[in-house]
Amino acid sequence: MKFGGTSVGDVAAFERVSGIVSSENRFRPVVVVSAMTKVTDALLAAFEIAKKGDAEDGFETLEPHFERHLSVAQHFDVPESSPFHNELQYAREELADLLKRVSRRSLPLSMLKDAIVSYGEQLSSRLLAEVLKKKGINARQVDSRRLIVTDDEFGAAQPIADETERLVKLELEPLIADGEVPILGGFIAANRGGETTTLGRGGSDYSAAIVAAALQAGELQIWTDVTGIMTCDPRIRPDARTIPVLSYEEAAELAYFGAKVLHPKTIKPAVDNAIPVRVCNTFEPERTGTMVLADSGEAPNKIKSIAHKKNITIVRVSSARMLGAYGFMSALFQIFERHRTVIDVVSTSEVSVALTLDNAASLDQIVVDLKRLGDVEVETGYAVVCVVGEGLRASTGLASKVFSTIDDVNIALVSHGASSVNLTFVVKEDQATKAIAKLHDAFF
Ligand code: ADP
Ligand code: ASP
Ligand code: MG
Repeated sequence: MKFGGTSVGDVAAFERVSGIVSSENRFRPVVVVSAMTKVTDALLAAFEIAKKGDAEDGFETLEPHFERHLSVAQHFDVPESSPFHNELQYAREELADLLKRVSRRSLPLSMLKDAIVSYGEQLSSRLLAEVLKKKGINARQVDSRRLIVTDDEFGAAQPIADETERLVKLELEPLIADGEVPILGGFIAANRGGETTTLGRGGSDYSAAIVAAALQAGELQIWTDVTGIMTCDPRIRPDARTIPVLSYEEAAELAYFGAKVLHPKTIKPAVDNAIPVRVCNTFEPERTGTMVLADSGEAPNKIKSIAHKKNITIVRVSSARMLGAYGFMSALFQIFERHRTVIDVVSTSEVSVALTLDNAASLDQIVVDLKRLGDVEVETGYAVVCVVGEGLRASTGLASKVFSTIDDVNIALVSHGASSVNLTFVVKEDQATKAIAKLHDAFF
């Protein structure tokens, strides 16, 4: 059972989570929890302030968040001698010290950043364990950094599967067998040297999937602030509806192309171990939400949901001298591989390629290398829109209906046919919301 930040935002939220965990207690759950809402952002902001040289100012901005944790503990009568209070004291001292190190640059910044940001989950998991104990649940906080082993890519670390699986089983199975409910912080992990790493923003979903896979869980539950995966982001269309069933493939495409409700890496461990994923609402636990399974069947109009991702960069490369020559694509993709940059959408013709990047951090060096292949154009400020549904590729007239619905929006790039469940296109960022709203009205 994974609870996101808004599910542990305040006293009322902790109360709701306690009720939900109690009601599932007979299934021997493992709980993965995010930082309390806004805490990760606050820790990152403190890091940025310290980077500018003001470690103490950075630390001070955290005080209201320490207080939020304390007021939850107080409300539930968690004794001051509890492991949570110890951890809070320790977090204060460590964060003050880490922020000073940031301003002095005494360790690599990416490493310090992960150490700092990890306190969100370290505190929330200890607090939740204490609250659950008060509610009569046999909860025990377990430090995820002892279970999830990753590479050294601070900020977006990749778990090492077999080592992680072994440790998760070794640590958690005896507790579960003893009737204890392990409470883990999501998002945080450690490299082989024991240094704290994180799995990327929104990574608690991924942590939960990794643990579920290692334990061969009967179900992975993602508890959030909306009722399941919806026909589009409810912040764009308040009339978005819950989709009762999605296939792994559909859910993975939606997550990858921006449906924030699931971290993009969540689905893989679930698919590999055939674990059903349920996405449900902490605020309305009685509603079923969305089930993600191997097969979902086709929707009557084929389309199940529309996702989008903003802040996308388009890179176009064309090379007339490559006409009829092989090796162009290979050379091109190797450049992105060398710069460890993921490509999202690709569209090609004989001598030109257009592709999109979500993370353009290494773009300058990439462009230098690409110029050896041909002419390069870079355009920023785009959004990827992804229409998803089982059977979409095979259905006649669907692309026509999609594009005629948004015939006043310029389409910069299209990808269709690679996946059987999606039609993806790229529009100017400021046109995305309009396009999605129109498509939503037309299809739902
Ligand atoms: P949590 O803190 O529980 O991890 P997130 O904020 O990461 O929650 O994800 C939930 C949010 O995802 C929702 O509040 C919603 O605005 C957004 N979202 C985007 N696309 C979708 C979608 N297709 N269905 C449901 N929610 C979506
Ligand atoms: N707390 C982390 C974040 O805000 C991880 C998560 O919530 O999943 O990104
Ligand atoms: Mg999330």
